[in-house]
Amino acid sequence: MLKPFAYVRAGSLDEAVKHLTLEESVVHAGGTDLLGCLRDRIFEAGTVVSISGLKNLHGISRSPSGGLRLGALTTVTEIARDPFIHEHYKGLARAALEVASPQLRNQGTIGGNICQKPRCWYYRGDFHCLRKGGNLCYAVGGENAFHCIFGGENCYIVHPSDTAPALAALEAVVHIQGPKGKRAVPIEAFHVLPSEDFTRETVLETGEIVTEIELPPPIPGLRSTYRKVRARRSWDFALAGVALAMVMEGKRVTKARIFLSGAAPIPWRLKEVEALITGKSLDSGLIRQAAEAAVRNAQPMEQNAYKIPLFRAVIEEELQTATR
Ligand SMILES: Cc1cc2nc3c(=O)[nH]c(=O)nc-3n(C[C@H](O)[C@H](O)[C@H](O)COP(=O)(O)OP(=O)(O)OC[C@H]3O[C@@H](n4cnc5c(N)ncnc54)[C@H](O)[C@@H]3O)c2cc1C
Ligand code: SF4
Repeated sequence: MLKPFAYVRAGSLDEAVKHLTLEESVVHAGGTDLLGCLRDRIFEAGTVVSISGLKNLHGISRSPSGGLRLGALTTVTEIARDPFIHEHYKGLARAALEVASPQLRNQGTIGGNICQKPRCWYYRGDFHCLRKGGNLCYAVGGENAFHCIFGGENCYIVHPSDTAPALAALEAVVHIQGPKGKRAVPIEAFHVLPSEDFTRETVLETGEIVTEIELPPPIPGLRSTYRKVRARRSWDFALAGVALAMVMEGKRVTKARIFLSGAAPIPWRLKEVEALITGKSLDSGLIRQAAEAAVRNAQPMEQNAYKIPLFRAVIEEELQTATR
């Protein structure tokens, strides 16, 4: 049963921020994740602040630097369909298309997608686990087939967004507004590891709202992709996913950024692999080495060691595809 809450439809960003500084206030964008969380009492809200009426947070436009500005309320469908994104930031278009179902993509926003709550079934169920303020992670001794193989400590969620790893590979920056003004954070520093704080998923402080996500100007020759493996053919979250953004001269890699989904509590960067392949010709020997290096430091739980060969294979295939 949904606990009663106050509902505010903000007429301006300042008004939204003002209401969000009140205790137990939450942002409501498309509501596809938030309303389920409130209904299931995963957390409670005193005030739900809808930002959907804030026109300046909607839509896609070119930034003064020649990059792209995605208003936080841009729907996932709009991103998946945008011709400029298709041409210059393909990995993002692909990731957006992999999100949930058409109905959820029509309603869900990009801001909500990168801020959504984890899908751990204990967290989503009636378990007062560590992340919900309890003192136990139930996944450790319980069902952990869909949990993380990297970056777990105290809590072992996987970050649920498909678009966040693609945005990270493309060096996106998250613009934020709050009671102390505006700030900008590279998306790869936006999500929080449990070792830093297992009670929150992002660096957002009380009262802060994501206003837009900015992509840098497209680099000539940049190829970006997103590949997602899921347990079912219909909509599902990533079991294993890889977002690549690479520049190549012939077969030689001149720049590479690689982030995994379904692997860690945050989009997981493969810095070691990026360093291994940059400056070298991407032949099948190097690709095999890269895929091996990608999973070398994995720390599987009792039921998710299957993710190691899965990631190895997906990374190998994606790097092979990049050479064609
Ligand atoms: C059945 C189902 C399947 C799904 N499958 C996938 C999937 O395969 N891949 C995937 O990536 N996602 C998936 N999702 C998640 C879905 O894509 C997201 O719920 C959606 O993009 C969130 O957008 P929203 O606008 O509805 O967010 P809301 O539900 O409104 O908000 C989500 C969270 O983000 C916060 N928030 C929202 N906007 C902002 C903002 N601008 N600033 C600060 N905080 C904000 C809210 O307070 C809330 O905590 C699925 C969801 C459902 C229900
Ligand atoms: S993995 Fe995290 S969210 Fe899931 S039960 Fe453990 S502490 Fe809770």
